[in-house]
Amino acid sequence: MTAPTPRPGILDIQAYVPGDSKVVGAGKSIKLSSNETPLGPSPRAVAAYEEAGAGLERYPDGDATQLRQAIGASTGLDAGRIVCGSGSDELLNLLAQGYLGPGDEAIYTTHGFMVYRIAILASGAKPVIAPETNLTADVDKILGCVTDRTRLVFLANPNNPTGTYLAASEVDRMRAALPDSVLLVLDAAYAEYVDRDDYEAGARLVKETNNTVMTRTFSKIYGLAALRIGWSYCPPHIADVLNRIRGPFNLTSSAIAAGAAAIADRDHRDAAVAHNTRWRQWVTDELMSLGLDVTPSVGNFVLIGFEAEGDQTAANADTFLKSKGIILRRVDGYGLPNCLRMTIGLEQENIAVRDALKDFMESKKS
Ligand SMILES: *Cc1c(COP(=O)(O)O)cnc(C)c1O
Repeated sequence: MTAPTPRPGILDIQAYVPGDSKVVGAGKSIKLSSNETPLGPSPRAVAAYEEAGAGLERYPDGDATQLRQAIGASTGLDAGRIVCGSGSDELLNLLAQGYLGPGDEAIYTTHGFMVYRIAILASGAKPVIAPETNLTADVDKILGCVTDRTRLVFLANPNNPTGTYLAASEVDRMRAALPDSVLLVLDAAYAEYVDRDDYEAGARLVKETNNTVMTRTFSKIYGLAALRIGWSYCPPHIADVLNRIRGPFNLTSSAIAAGAAAIADRDHRDAAVAHNTRWRQWVTDELMSLGLDVTPSVGNFVLIGFEAEGDQTAANADTFLKSKGIILRRVDGYGLPNCLRMTIGLEQENIAVRDALKDFMESKKS
């Protein structure tokens, strides 16, 4: 008996593995494995979410107008060029679906976000991996991967899980050197956390070109990961493509209402940024003084490097931390088997991780 077979490429996909959320046996655990904000969402977003609970029999506004206008009001961007998605994951997949097919190639970098590979393979295209330099995207190496089959480049800026970023001048240089027919997708999921003068999330480049898209999310700084809200800022012809292929009601009414309230709450966002900036520095300094290798990060997480061999490995550290109820993220799947990624947590959580890693380093001293 023959059975239906999926399109070529689909069975090459390894399903996305989310960060662990539980440890067996431990009481209250500290979960710093998925880059969620420790401060939670704005109380105004929670109130809007609860209000949306009256009226669940109605379909949501298929254009998410209230949310797009709130994003426009907060960012100064044209709401007409904003397309929202069920998380930015959906938008990344729709961009691949809209612009890639069998025979096409799409580029991302060695330690780039795992969703890119899934989106490329699901569209039937071939993933091409550009090497990085010092755990950072390298424009020349990306350009070196371009062939006449290249249709799309995914760049996470800043990147997860490395925490590194490219300056706006480098992104400009890449855009200028890429063929005009190649779509550049700038995934700026962590843009709000970046405090560097030479960084731009990508809106300017979207305005100046007709082949660049920026994607953003409410899952990180806005603390609304559970509601699945992402948005993209696009040239009009690309917004048109996304609007044709997306689900007609791809955002729930509660997501639309909560997202609109969240982005309007500037004070809550500012507090989340200030908390992150302070504790990111503290965690970096403290872990480095324990002899760990911490990649300087501009996001809300840090990549911690351990020994490749011996007792002080990332795998041993992970086991040790889990025995204390602390969940960080193993990043083997990103080609970083000697690292753990730690999301910046609350003060007491950051201190608990530092204390546990201190114990780990001391217990494993040779
Ligand atoms: C977390 C993350 C996203 C956001 O995904 P959502 O689907 O919006 O929750 C996008 N890109 C990167 C690189 C991320 O780390």
